[in-house]
Amino acid sequence: MIKYNLICRHDHEFEAWFSSSKDYDAQREKRLVQCPHCGSAKVEKAIMAPNVSTSRKKAAAQTKRKEALAMMNAAAQTIRKEIEDKCDYVGEKFADEARAIHYGEKEERPIYGEASAKEAEELRDEGVGIAPLPDVLAPKPKKKVN
Ligand SMILES: [Zn+2]
Repeated sequence: MIKYNLICRHDHEFEAWFSSSKDYDAQREKRLVQCPHCGSAKVEKAIMAPNVSTSRKKAAAQTKRKEALAMMNAAAQTIRKEIEDKCDYVGEKFADEARAIHYGEKEERPIYGEASAKEAEELRDEGVGIAPLPDVLAPKPKKKVN
């Protein structure tokens, strides 16, 4: 099947399906291809509009984006939960804690918390293994239970 964008002598544009270009020619010859607006059989192929269904495509793309976003949010939530469950929130003492663990002053355990860019840089300089947690993956800060 081929879809043609057609235009009649009154500049009405419309779409029509044909089994082949020959089919189109034959139907047009027999004046069977008529403008749905005015009934004129004087029709020509219009210049192909690249996106006839742009709005529909846009809507579909938007839906896909929303689905992808929802999936990412769900994944982020899982990771947040994982971090929250398995790691110890140490808040602003993160740098001290990370250092203490690194130097063996405290038992090794996964922690997370807040550190300034400067603190993070110092830790990295000292060879303390830390990784920045993107905001989206960071569990909401909570009071440290001690
Ligand atoms: Zn027409």
